[in-house]
Amino acid sequence: MAAQILDGKSLAASIRAALKERVAALVQRGVKPGLAVVLAGDDPASRVYVRNKRLAATETGVHSELIELPGTIGQRELRERIEGLNANRAIHGILVQLPLPKPIDAAAVLEAIAPAKDVDGFHEINMGALFAGRPAVVPCTPAGVMRLMEQARIPLAGRHAVVIGRSNIVGKPVAQLLLQKDATVTICHSKSSDLSELTRRADVLIAAVGRPKLVRQDMVKPGACVIDVGVNRLEDGKLAGDVDFQAVKEVAGWITPVPGGVGPMTIAMLLENCIRAASRELEPKPAG
Ligand code: NAD
Repeated sequence: MAAQILDGKSLAASIRAALKERVAALVQRGVKPGLAVVLAGDDPASRVYVRNKRLAATETGVHSELIELPGTIGQRELRERIEGLNANRAIHGILVQLPLPKPIDAAAVLEAIAPAKDVDGFHEINMGALFAGRPAVVPCTPAGVMRLMEQARIPLAGRHAVVIGRSNIVGKPVAQLLLQKDATVTICHSKSSDLSELTRRADVLIAAVGRPKLVRQDMVKPGACVIDVGVNRLEDGKLAGDVDFQAVKEVAGWITPVPGGVGPMTIAMLLENCIRAASRELEPKPAG
């Protein structure tokens, strides 16, 4: 039987609709959530991502500001711009679109963001909290992956989850979140030997590499849940994930499409993180 398609596009739309109501309630209480998107250089894919994020923000009622900077910007100047946003009370979330132009040290730039405004969850403080099991801000794509599986009631406790990819943005945090749901987790990467042997043992398979058709049908256990995080631009201009969707959907139990799977969930989680950051403004401040 063909797999059930996990429709991230429609789930993300319903999350955004609920967020819109939360924003309206916040605005009534005098807080308008604000998101600053920092775009340095003119990478065409980054421009598309930034446009989509800002559009979704505006539709949800979140104030969004685009800080467009030349690709030649220096490390110190970029840092100063971020410090300005840290101090800006109208801004609750700061997102620095990656990749940054060379030779900027992206890790140092991300560390300059105030952890409370780090809506991507990439700051070491937020990463550390996640790995210690006290998540403060969960990175958007891993959070979106987990929400999709939660919505579809995919069993995770005691199941074997295999994550392909070990980046700080996707692979490592999603592995951590799966562990928190009591899955047994294997992380594979470019140096893993016999990838197929590992993936065939997965009840849940997450592909986050950036290589079209890396995951073939014979690499998937029948009935497995296959989540495709990859985004690849093919020669004909179409988008494709890391999974051979047409073939794998014939054996998997659940599968996400690309586009329309994880991508829209990432944006919904970004807005959720930003709105949560704004809500903190209304929480009582600790005494002293
Ligand atoms: P990355 O380049 O930082 O990491 C890729 C990982 O894949 C590395 O850990 C590497 O070890 C591993 N890898 C490379 N070749 C491999 C192979 N042959 N076998 C096994 N592992 C291999 O990329 P990233 O930032 O983690 O992104 C991964 C993919 O997800 C990209 O296509 C990216 O565009 C996409 N992405 C999508 C979203 C979304 O919202 N849908 C968000 C972030 C990233």
